[in-house]
Amino acid sequence: MNKTNKIKIKLNEYIVNLPKDFNQPTDAVGQRLLKEYGALFVARGVIPPKTVIFKSEREVSAYQASLSKSKKNIGGFAVELQTAAMKNFEDAISEAEQNSLTITPRGADAAKRNYADTVTLWASRVNPGISHWVEKGALNKADASRILSLSPFKQVSEIFKLESQGMFCSKDLSKSIIYSVAPPGTSQHLSMLALDVNEHGDSMVRDVLAEHGWFQTVVSDLPHFTFLGVLENQLSKLGLKKISDGGRFFWLPNL
Ligand SMILES: [Zn+2]
Repeated sequence: MNKTNKIKIKLNEYIVNLPKDFNQPTDAVGQRLLKEYGALFVARGVIPPKTVIFKSEREVSAYQASLSKSKKNIGGFAVELQTAAMKNFEDAISEAEQNSLTITPRGADAAKRNYADTVTLWASRVNPGISHWVEKGALNKADASRILSLSPFKQVSEIFKLESQGMFCSKDLSKSIIYSVAPPGTSQHLSMLALDVNEHGDSMVRDVLAEHGWFQTVVSDLPHFTFLGVLENQLSKLGLKKISDGGRFFWLPNL
């Protein structure tokens, strides 16, 4: 063994488990989103995105077209997921039924979304948030219209800047917008590996979902589950850490 081989570099377990050609963000916004939403990038048995932020509908469509996916009518809604995620969701529903539990999607946009959906959802928080802070006198009108005139993608860092000054844009204006809606092009729903569930408040339902690879990975986004494709005892090996928040557990990148 030569000298070079003896030098041990401790690599971060999460980073090691990212897809080989993953586009690691170097900017502050991208790094924050990787920390907050990044659990799905180490999902197994499926194809997670290779980027934290999709910048256009074209990029999202190309990625979604490359996936093996499955569409089913569940609870009155068309649910579209990557094939392995769907199979495990259906298995979870069957197991829940045997225990007299139900698991149902929250609505028509509970699973797959496109880029335009994420832009609309973002605006549904940003626009009222900005109006509120202008009314309160915390933000001047010129800055408000400058931010609103930016592309949705460019708005993200500006909104984070406002939030660092206490001007939060979540629905109840008490916390960061990212715990309420994802910035444009960053939603886990674009990957068809996320699902919003009605019965999220039932710990037995959460346990059944976990037994089929579905976990909570976005702190304080309560109905939201992410398909990670492994059992809970494998998650720390993927470089994820368990966070306790509001009586629930969330799995986040251990960065
Ligand atoms: Zn969701």
